[in-house]
Amino acid sequence: TTAAARNNDTLTRHVVYPFANANFLAVNPPICIEGGDGVYVSDGPGAHYLDGQAGLWNVNVGHGRPEIKQAIIEQLDRLSFYSTFGNTTNSPSVALADELCRLAEPEGMVRTFFSSGGSEANEAAIKLAKQYWRLAGQPLRTKIISLRGAYHGVTLGALSAGGVNVYKEQFTPLLPGFFQVETPHVYRNPFTSDPEALGRLCAELLEREIIYQGPDSVAAFMAEPVQGAGGVIVPPANFWPLLREVCDRHGVLLIADEVVTGFGRSGSMFGSRAWGVKPDIMVFAKGINSGYIPLGATLINAKVAAAFQSDDKSQFTPRAFMHGNTYAGHPLACAAAIANLRIVEQEELPANAGKVGAYLLARLKDIQKRHPNMGDVRGKGLMIGIELVADPETKRPFDLAENFGQRIWERCVAKGILIRNLADTFIISPPLTFTTEHADKIADTFDEAISAVE
Ligand code: PMP
Repeated sequence: TTAAARNNDTLTRHVVYPFANANFLAVNPPICIEGGDGVYVSDGPGAHYLDGQAGLWNVNVGHGRPEIKQAIIEQLDRLSFYSTFGNTTNSPSVALADELCRLAEPEGMVRTFFSSGGSEANEAAIKLAKQYWRLAGQPLRTKIISLRGAYHGVTLGALSAGGVNVYKEQFTPLLPGFFQVETPHVYRNPFTSDPEALGRLCAELLEREIIYQGPDSVAAFMAEPVQGAGGVIVPPANFWPLLREVCDRHGVLLIADEVVTGFGRSGSMFGSRAWGVKPDIMVFAKGINSGYIPLGATLINAKVAAAFQSDDKSQFTPRAFMHGNTYAGHPLACAAAIANLRIVEQEELPANAGKVGAYLLARLKDIQKRHPNMGDVRGKGLMIGIELVADPETKRPFDLAENFGQRIWERCVAKGILIRNLADTFIISPPLTFTTEHADKIADTFDEAISAVE
């Protein structure tokens, strides 16, 4: 029945899918997910799958949570939508802003700007940083530095900050004033195999770029605490603390894109907290409400917030943040987020992600010993990547036309697990409610699938 569902060409007839070649999809139609319950999803009357990707690293508390459903229904009974453009607002967004600033109080966050998703939340972060420097006085800083391999979203600002070329090259010229520096990728770098030395070196490369650009021209540096779509690149433990020092030395704002790492995924409430670092701006989406309704949030600390404070009494003064989206702070999304964050805290999901993630990583590293094509197994919390290589010595990737990863993925699906194959790097990012039994199912199935394809 799974095959029947997947052969259904109605799934591709009238749809343009993101990031996928139409010819490929005509032969390999997407799995149409019709139902979800906890850590399982189903394609209607077809198969059930263990959800090893949590939607798109976002359904942190699992599918079909009655607490979230109830919160949405109650809010729907009261009010489905009203905008938050300042002359009006809605109470769930106000309550959620309080909640977010309470959770990120150790990081020093004092205000929240809402949007409708991760790209928008990053766009807001970039604009907040730029406007911050307009307001903070001269010299005017406008440049944004980020990392190669970064994924910050698809809007033109977020895309310009991104560091994965395949997402960018069709849309050049992108925005001026964006620059990328080397990411500390322990498995693939030409410098050193010593993680600590690599962390130091990459922080130094950032500092050199800031100096080269002219420190007085750099508004902000932005990065993910663990790179997600770049292939789960976990930086060495010294990298983020050193980043903070470099930014401080040159007065550069530090933006943490916590769209994936926020609310537990990397084993701490926030990815930057896991590294012991306090950013100036924090960006959230996805796990903020486990994807029940789209939502993004950009948090700022007291230093950034102060620039937007003034004694002016009229609405459109230069100290108003001149940016906003209709659905920002949607009441249904915010009500869902409040219920979601309560679950994250009560069920101690960050700690569970740390525990189950470490267990799964250890299992996969053990399996790796028997499979030379598993070039690298890496991760933090429930963000795990398995990079396949054709040759473990040279780390040469497979020719994608060989479909090595695709065939492993198909066997995983046939055996009832859903994980993501991103150009031969498998990404495992399940709900944070995963148990070690679920982790075993993922590990055993992957082992079986790669053995068969080998
Ligand atoms: N930042 C990161 C780190 C992401 O992983 C993503 C989405 N995968 C985004 C931003 C963009 O979020 P959205 O797709 O909701 O626009």
